[in-house]
Amino acid sequence: MYIKSQRVANIPPYLFSEINRKKQELIEQGVDVIDLGIGCPDLPTPAHIIERLLEEMKDPNNFKYSGYSGCQEFREAVAKFYKKQFNVDLDPETEILTLIGSKEGIAHFISASIDPGDFVLLPDPGYPTYRTATFLANGFPYSMPLLRGNQYLPDFSIIPSHIKEKAKIMFLNYPSNPTAAVAGHEFFQEAVDFSRENQITIAHDAAYQMVTFDGYQSPSILQAEGAREVAVEFGSLSKTYSMTGWRIGYAVGNRDALKSLSVVKSNVDTSQFIPIQKAAATALTDDQTCIAEYNEIYKQRRKWMLKALQELGIEADSPKGSFFIWATVPKVFSSSEFVKNVLEKTGVIVTPGTAFGEYGEGYFRISLSVPTERLQQAIDRIRSKLVLSV
Ligand SMILES: *Cc1c(COP(=O)(O)O)cnc(C)c1O
Repeated sequence: MYIKSQRVANIPPYLFSEINRKKQELIEQGVDVIDLGIGCPDLPTPAHIIERLLEEMKDPNNFKYSGYSGCQEFREAVAKFYKKQFNVDLDPETEILTLIGSKEGIAHFISASIDPGDFVLLPDPGYPTYRTATFLANGFPYSMPLLRGNQYLPDFSIIPSHIKEKAKIMFLNYPSNPTAAVAGHEFFQEAVDFSRENQITIAHDAAYQMVTFDGYQSPSILQAEGAREVAVEFGSLSKTYSMTGWRIGYAVGNRDALKSLSVVKSNVDTSQFIPIQKAAATALTDDQTCIAEYNEIYKQRRKWMLKALQELGIEADSPKGSFFIWATVPKVFSSSEFVKNVLEKTGVIVTPGTAFGEYGEGYFRISLSVPTERLQQAIDRIRSKLVLSV
C-alpha cells in the first residue's frame, strides 16, 4: 500500500511528460515527429571539454566524494569567469557553490529559504520548477505577469503590500525562458532596490546568460549596486556549452543564502562527480570560441524561422537571447488547441504558452534546437496542413 503526500498530489502533471507520451504514440504509428518543444540543445559538447573529462577519468583520486560545496578548481573557474565576463569579484570559498545542474539548486534554494505559508514571487510565464518547488516546500507561488507591452519585465509597483510582506524570494530569469526577452542593468538595479526595500531575496536564473545575439551581452545581476546583500544568481553550463546531461551548474552571490542552500544540499547530495566538475572548469576558463560558434548557429536558425513565421502571418518578436522564439497563437485557437492541432495534423511539437503559466495564454514557444532543414520541414507541414485563419 502506498499513499502519496498532499504536496505531491497537488502538483499538476509535468506538461512535458504528457507531450512526450503523445510523441511516443505518434512515433509508434510511424509519424516522423519534429520536436520543437524541448529546451535541449542538439549541438555536441565541444571536444576539448570531453577530452578533459576523459583525462580526469584516469585518476583514481577523482572517484572519491567531492567536497560538499564542490571541488576547488571548479569554484575558482566560476570566479575567473565572473571576473572576466562581468568584472565581479567572488570568493570561491563563500560566494560560489557547485550545483548538480541549476534546476537542482533552484529547487533546493526554495526549501532552504521559505517556511510553510511563505510566498514566492515568480515570473508568469516562467520556468515551471519555480512553482512546483514552491508547492513542495508548502509555500504559495505568486505570479508576476510578464506582458509583451512591458517587454516581458515584471511591474513591481502592482504587487500588493500584503503579498510583499509575506514574500521571501523572488525569481527572475533573463534571457528568459520561455519569452526570450532580455533585461538590462537598469532593470536589475530596479529589482535589487525593490528587494532591499521589501526584504525579499532575489534568485536570478541565468541559464541563458551566454546565449545571446546581435552583439547583445547579458549582464549579471551581481553587477547591480547592493546586489550581494540580496541576490543569488544561478548559472548553468547546460545551454552555453551544450552540456545538459552532464548536470553541472553553480550558485553565486549572497553568502548567507548560499550557506543555507548548502545545509539543504549537504543533507541530500554530495555534489557532482569530480571529473565532471574539472571538465566544467575547463569549459569556463579555456577557449570560448565555441560559444560564439553555437550562438551563430542559433542566430541563423532564428533568422530563418522568424521570416517563415512572418510569411505565415504569425507574430513573433526577434529575441536577443536564448534559443527560443515566443510567438503569438493565431486568433482562432487557444494555446492548447493550437498545439494539439499542430501535433495531430503535422507531427510537429511546439509548447503551449500555458505550460509556463496563465499569462502564457495566446502564445506558443518554438525551440530552435534542431537543424534548419528540420525547421523548414516543420514550417512546410504547417503551411500545407493547417488553416491558420478564419
Ligand atoms: C534549462 C533551464 C534550467 C536548468 O538547467 P540545468 O542547469 O540543466 O538544470 C534552468 N532554468 C531555465 C530557465 C532553463 O531553461
